[in-house]
Amino acid sequence: MQYDVVIGLEVHAELKTQTKCFCSCKNTYGDLPNSNCCPVCMGLPGALPVLNKFAVEQTVRAGLALGFEINKQALFERKNYFYPDLAKAYQISQLEKPICINGHLKVFDKEIPINRIHLEEDAGKLVHKDNVSLVDYNRAGVPLIELVTDALKQPHIESADEAIEFLTKLRQIYIYAGVADCIVEKGQMRADVNVSLKPKGSSEFGTKVEMKNIMGFKAVHRAITYEIQRQKEILDEGGVIEQETRKWDNDKGESYTLRTKENSEDYRYFPDPDLLMVNIDQKDIDRIKDSMPILPAQLKEKFMNEYGLSEYDSDVLLADKEVCDFFIACLEDYFKPKTVANWVITEVLARQKLEGKILVSKENLVWIIKAVDDKKVQRLAAKDLLSDIWGTTLSAEEQARKKDILADLSTDFVLEVIEKVVKEKSGVVEQFKREKDPKILNFLVGQVMKETRGKANAQAVLQKLTDMLK
Ligand SMILES: [Zn+2]
Repeated sequence: MQYDVVIGLEVHAELKTQTKCFCSCKNTYGDLPNSNCCPVCMGLPGALPVLNKFAVEQTVRAGLALGFEINKQALFERKNYFYPDLAKAYQISQLEKPICINGHLKVFDKEIPINRIHLEEDAGKLVHKDNVSLVDYNRAGVPLIELVTDALKQPHIESADEAIEFLTKLRQIYIYAGVADCIVEKGQMRADVNVSLKPKGSSEFGTKVEMKNIMGFKAVHRAITYEIQRQKEILDEGGVIEQETRKWDNDKGESYTLRTKENSEDYRYFPDPDLLMVNIDQKDIDRIKDSMPILPAQLKEKFMNEYGLSEYDSDVLLADKEVCDFFIACLEDYFKPKTVANWVITEVLARQKLEGKILVSKENLVWIIKAVDDKKVQRLAAKDLLSDIWGTTLSAEEQARKKDILADLSTDFVLEVIEKVVKEKSGVVEQFKREKDPKILNFLVGQVMKETRGKANAQAVLQKLTDMLK
């Protein structure tokens, strides 16, 4: 039987802020366990939360970047459940009045509707070692935004590929907007997925199965593909899909039941009596809108329409903000977008991927590109030069002089060498005049290049020789 697939995403991203969401503990990653905690984020009796205004601002910024409406009044509620990483036994979250509603994100050629973005606090982290489990509360209270797609509206996310494209685009927008770093390996961006199948063309939705514990985009792709296949097989055999939450085991490449039939009522949400209603002024929304950094979609348009880059090159540059920023910075010094893009994509990106960071200054790269354009340095020698100075404090120009690869452009000098070669190789010259074989001419060019130790411009030498031997 043929089925329509409907995929819903819930994406959590840790906000970039100095401090946690409801206390002044530092929001950092990798510090000594339990070193950034206080009575508020540990949930000790009598401690009162104070809302971090900047966390609200960052949530609004995320919403505006994705075309959301901003609720002028937002409410914080308690989501009650027990787990060892949640000292308070409730999480401060938002249910009824989230900060952002009704957004969208373009995935391939579909505008995927997004229901909401709400602000909540993260839980601590459990570390399992041998026979013990340890808990680190440094992450408890870190501001987190949760985005939920709207599977009730068309168009839907219908495949694993579309889900990955959605997550990739979303991550890019958060990073460019300065809202979150979204380093997936650090758990700064996490996605839960729900999948349902319905007979092709049917308007009635199938039963939703949620999947949790999916680490990384590749795992999301695998988990979705697995779940679609699992449901297909059950339905094809006339079975019934049970509403449940499944846990994805990436090592085994399969999922298993975590719990069945859970919904929001089970969490006994109620307004947090310790926190006031949040009022968001239009003038604050306008200010955040006006200060929005340039976003990937706008940059892509600029790269393609103003700079004449291909769509592929634009996408490659935009995929990594460090690379994109570096490209733009280089253009400030040398506005040759296609040439610079070429160097950044082929030479800089390959090295950055290897080292995890760009280790050359824009001044040095621009010097090298210009030197090649001005025919002062041969292309191959320039690539070696880039390797030489990569990760060092050497200057490209000094290193080029030291290596003696700078072309001597004085025509007199090159001309002298050409004349010398023509005189010395008179036999070959005569042969060329008789046979007009371009191979012989190339041999003579080679001789000149050898004499000048590769510093002459081969193209110019060829031209000169052709003229001379006519
Ligand atoms: Zn704290």
